[in-house]
Amino acid sequence: MPSSEIVLIANKFDHETIAKLDKEYITHHLWDYAEKEQNKLIQSLEGKCRAVATASWVCDERVYDLSSIKIIAAFGVGVEGINFSKTKHKGIRVTNTPGVLDDAVADIAMALIVTTMRNIINADKFVRNNSWQHGPFPPSRSLAGKTLGIIGLGRIGNAIVERALPFKMKIAYHNRSIKPCPYTYYPTILELAENSDILLSMLPGGDETRNIIDGRTLQALGPAGIFINVGRGTTVDEEALIAALAQGLIAGAGLDVLANEPYVPDSLKQMDNVVLLPHIGSATLETRVEMGNLLIKNLDAYFSSNPLPSEVEQ
Ligand code: NAP
Repeated sequence: MPSSEIVLIANKFDHETIAKLDKEYITHHLWDYAEKEQNKLIQSLEGKCRAVATASWVCDERVYDLSSIKIIAAFGVGVEGINFSKTKHKGIRVTNTPGVLDDAVADIAMALIVTTMRNIINADKFVRNNSWQHGPFPPSRSLAGKTLGIIGLGRIGNAIVERALPFKMKIAYHNRSIKPCPYTYYPTILELAENSDILLSMLPGGDETRNIIDGRTLQALGPAGIFINVGRGTTVDEEALIAALAQGLIAGAGLDVLANEPYVPDSLKQMDNVVLLPHIGSATLETRVEMGNLLIKNLDAYFSSNPLPSEVEQ
């Protein structure tokens, strides 16, 4: 039997999860209403609705106007879409979906490392356009023995390490604080870049990390260096990245995330030393089911006054 709890769903984050929420609760889809009607809907939920479900990377600011909202259950791990000054001020609890997506995201990070280092996309084009008939494809670069420098060695970063070690890569990292692990720690991103062959950002988004990877960092990575971004597009100064790629200050880049996605600068699209993906790190059918289930477990726990399985510390 469906619960009598009301859940306001702020955006269309995942079709399957939204269908499950619709079955379990009394739901309202904000996007189903015209702009004016949305305001009316929100007002009508005052005092009745305690929960919002949303994408973690974006949320409608109007949900904070409802004084009855006590929990925001976010789909995703990077919670830069949540306005924490408002949730803190209003005592709204926030949950996200960490852990269940680590393997899928780490697979994409590893795929970008292999694809950029071994020049896979251009090799595929080389076969399709019959260039092979005129001579062999130029050699690419080995992974074995190279240093993978991870900025933001957390849950997903560690899952990437588990994959990179069997490829015989060395691991270095930068976080705000040193971790109890056997890998080389650098106290600044600049020093990590100077000592890495591949620099990989697994950083969260938000103001603290905006453009934290700048032109100097990329120059320090050097002309044979590869930059990989699977964290958030906003963590790198994208103009500096484009300039570094165009001027040969770095050798190439693999990007699952972009600064202003889904809009991608034409200059990046035209570069054949860049591999571009449409933010598909966690986008496997299995992972999306796990993320949705965890979001619903958080709501269920809240409604039954149990501890929340994955509450974000505020
Ligand atoms: P996590 O376990 O919290 O790891 C993030 C790490 O970054 C932490 O170890 C943290 O360590 C470090 N960090 C945070 N701010 C920093 C800063 N200003 N400077 C240096 N290091 C910093 O998170 P996760 O689950 O691995 O996820 C990481 C991020 O990946 C998410 O926030 C999200 O943006 C992104 N993501 C992308 C996809 C995708 O599809 N491409 C999917 C899921 C997640 P310290 O606290 O010690 O600094």
